[in-house]
Amino acid sequence: MLAARKRAENKGGSIMGEEKVLYSVKMRSSLGGAHGVGGQHISGAERIVTKNSVEQEMISMLHRAWEHDRGAADFIQFKVEALRHEGITCCPLLPLYQIDTATKEEGRAAAKKELLRSGVSETAMGKGFAILESLTDSMRGAAVVDAETGERLDGLGMRGVRCSCMDCEDTCAYEAQMGAKGLGGEHPREALILASKVAAAPGTVAELCWSDDPFYVTGYVGSPKFGYGRITVMKEKGDPIGGRVFFVKHGTDMDRYVEYMQHQTVLVRVK
Ligand code: AMP
Repeated sequence: MLAARKRAENKGGSIMGEEKVLYSVKMRSSLGGAHGVGGQHISGAERIVTKNSVEQEMISMLHRAWEHDRGAADFIQFKVEALRHEGITCCPLLPLYQIDTATKEEGRAAAKKELLRSGVSETAMGKGFAILESLTDSMRGAAVVDAETGERLDGLGMRGVRCSCMDCEDTCAYEAQMGAKGLGGEHPREALILASKVAAAPGTVAELCWSDDPFYVTGYVGSPKFGYGRITVMKEKGDPIGGRVFFVKHGTDMDRYVEYMQHQTVLVRVK
């Protein structure tokens, strides 16, 4: 893909060092009309790049919306926004470990174990799984659940809370490290970057995720305590329903939590 090639050509180093202004490029796409007026969500993507990469990134995202496994989008929205360095913070890339599973049942049992040892109560874990397993369509964002009581805190139904405004600080360093582990490519990258921002949020105890891409059966449990636990099989092939749950400490200030998730720009730093 064009954007991936362009990135590979970059010399490397932090994008913060290259230019005074960075650009957030966001895309969301649907089929059958716009979101909210009957359109079915197809895909979304976002990157933070320097000005000379904005165009390639948009082309790459356009192809992604047209060629997605969930269908070819017929409604595609882009948002391009300049970002000043002053408002940007950094967080570390979560360390990755892998749990190999062969079936959905095995994968979900492993995820439950990971949630419990990360500090999520049995009740909250059950509530998180019940939310995701009762979905008849994919959520757009994540359900936020109290890690102690299991209460759902966001009150946002099928929309949930979207974690946005994040990317990798040094794409070359990231690709060198993850490519060496055989985990190059957009899917693992996006999940790991998102999970790193989520784990760095004040209040996060753990995160549970499986994809809404019907052919991407890998999921994960992320936590500030243990890192990113990649679970190789967490759903059946062909299943188009995915979702996320953010488990938070009891007493977390939800307004601040949602503000951080939606608006704080975070660049994820590779050690
Ligand atoms: P994906 O990993 O992109 O296949 O997404 C799987 C599920 O995670 C989606 O169905 C949403 O419920 C949720 N999700 C996707 N992107 C985000 C996001 N940026 N913030 C919060 N939740 C998300």
